[in-house]
Amino acid sequence: MAIEKLVTVGKKQCELIHLDVELQEQRVYATADFLHTFGAPYRVRACVCTAALDCNLAGIPCKWAYNAPDVDRF
Ligand code: SF4
Repeated sequence: MAIEKLVTVGKKQCELIHLDVELQEQRVYATADFLHTFGAPYRVRACVCTAALDCNLAGIPCKWAYNAPDVDRF
C-alpha cells in the first residue's frame, strides 16, 4: 500500500498573473511493507503550480503549467 499527499514546496506571487501561488508536489509515501521497493520514504508523482490550469489555458508559457519545459518561473 501507499499513501498520497500534496506537499507545498514553494510559495510566491507570480508577476505574470499577480496572484499568490504555490508549487505543490504530489508525493506517494510507501508504507512499511513496500518501503523496500521504493528505496526512499516517498516518490514525487507530479509537481505543479496551483495556477497551472489557468496559465495553461491562457497560453502562458511555464514549466509548472506543463507547456514550456525550459521556462521555470518559480
Ligand atoms: S504556472 Fe507558472 S506562470 Fe503560472 S502562476 Fe504558476 S509559476 Fe506563474
